Amino acid sequence: MFFRNKITYWYENNRRDLPWRRTADPYNIWISEVILQQTRINQGINYYYRFIELFPTVEKLAKADEELVLKVWQGLGYYSRARNLRQGAIDVVNNYNGKIPTSYKELLKIKGIGEYTAAAIASIAFNEPVAAIDGNVFRVLSRFLGISEAINSTRGKIVFRQKANELMDIHQPGTYNQAVMEFGALACTPKKPDCDNCPLASHCFALKNKLVEQLPVKLPKNSKRTRFFSYFIIIDNESILLNKRTQNDIWKNMFDFPCIETNIEASPEKLTETSEWLQIFGAKKVEINKISKNITHLLTHQKIVIQFIHVSAKPSEMAVNKQFSIYNKSEAQKLPCPKPIVIYIEKENLF
Ligand code: SF4
Repeated sequence: MFFRNKITYWYENNRRDLPWRRTADPYNIWISEVILQQTRINQGINYYYRFIELFPTVEKLAKADEELVLKVWQGLGYYSRARNLRQGAIDVVNNYNGKIPTSYKELLKIKGIGEYTAAAIASIAFNEPVAAIDGNVFRVLSRFLGISEAINSTRGKIVFRQKANELMDIHQPGTYNQAVMEFGALACTPKKPDCDNCPLASHCFALKNKLVEQLPVKLPKNSKRTRFFSYFIIIDNESILLNKRTQNDIWKNMFDFPCIETNIEASPEKLTETSEWLQIFGAKKVEINKISKNITHLLTHQKIVIQFIHVSAKPSEMAVNKQFSIYNKSEAQKLPCPKPIVIYIEKENLF
């Protein structure tokens, strides 16, 4: 009672005015929750406006080309979120008559909707008392209650879910969930939480026991896998050769340049000895005009080390196939590309 009263009172007085908080529309809440996963609010807000403007309803999103959805998402990263959102919309249109399910249990059946998103939609749009647990909630509960189970362990997840549901305000579940998340984002922050002004301080286990810095506990992550991408820039005044990434891998269905991937850093000479080189260039004699410095791009579980190699070959001389296609530059601008590619295109003014 103490926790839920204090935290909802704090929320009423400190909440940020965000566009998705002015609606109870489950579609808008769904979009906002997916955009905000692994994204800061300041960055996510413009993406939210643009997404809702272009795809204002679940039907519009279901009918949209995947390429357009990925283009709108470009720069946000974690592109499977965008692909899954569209697939989820198709699922709702095909199997639920275009109506987003109203219960946590049914929401979980929609492609791409996991426990957190289902709980957020069910509680905020449909008042179902189910706890939505994001990183902020883990931190607040862990510190306030003194839970030392690792938040990324199987047992930890069970313990936190149970405690979160016990504390839930069943009369206003949507407000309560948002209150805990907002409190974690603004007050009980990872570094330097505002304990001096905290309404929960008198009952906070971590503060009382000097464990604020130690909680929450997280198991160390496996080290990142490192991959080396050598991209070939095959371009002339009008056109460029691009590769559509169709494999089940990062950046699926987005566009990059023809690439040779290696496990270690490879010199251009070494690259010419690979079978991928033959696939791209055949027996053609190719000169290297320029090689970029290495660029490191970090993903959650992978480190991608990228070099861009400008070559003398022209798009019109290349054999196009399922993977590689020639695009004129204005067409290419409309295609969804991963962030390091977009940055390089802009830096080099390629198109
Ligand atoms: S007292 Fe500090 S650690 Fe405890 S809930 Fe408040 S802000 Fe978080």
